[in-house]
Amino acid sequence: MSNPTCARCGTPAPSEDLPLTWVTSVEKGRKLVYCDRCARENVRSIESKLDSAWW
Ligand SMILES: [Zn+2]
Repeated sequence: MSNPTCARCGTPAPSEDLPLTWVTSVEKGRKLVYCDRCARENVRSIESKLDSAWW
């Protein structure tokens, strides 16, 4: 029993199978997952560094 948890907000996935809206990302050999909400904000922050002050 090890449901993935969001690497940013810690929200646990509803099941071991990630929902399609969740995003996986490999960083430095570690597999990280982001929930749908964080994935969206993460992408935005990557695409637009100007938003970093908002965090
Ligand atoms: Zn999250």
